[in-house]
Amino acid sequence: MFPESVNVKQQAGIIEIVWNTGQTSTIPLMRLRQDCPCATCAQERGENPHPGLLDAPPPPKEAKKRSLSLPLLGDIRKFAIDSLHHVGHYALGVVWADNHKSIYTWEFLKDSE
Ligand SMILES: [Zn+2]
Repeated sequence: MFPESVNVKQQAGIIEIVWNTGQTSTIPLMRLRQDCPCATCAQERGENPHPGLLDAPPPPKEAKKRSLSLPLLGDIRKFAIDSLHHVGHYALGVVWADNHKSIYTWEFLKDSE
């Protein structure tokens, strides 16, 4: 299975993949980003964490700063795609607008539908 075309519809917030089987997968960009398989994101989701890392409370100063920020502003860039590229024959590389880089295998994308 291989994609015939990959289209990002930024306004709609989706990525559309047309497979060589004739099927089409439509995946919300938000979910794609949230499912980013890289080690950093997996750890943020609490998967495979070092037990000590998540238990440590943030320093009081940083916690105060965080409560003043507007997370939505960051999220807009987080869920927008800057560019796409092929990674070998097996995966799609995504550069997000906040400059985070993700790699999704075609298999992963097909299952995300
Ligand atoms: Zn990631």
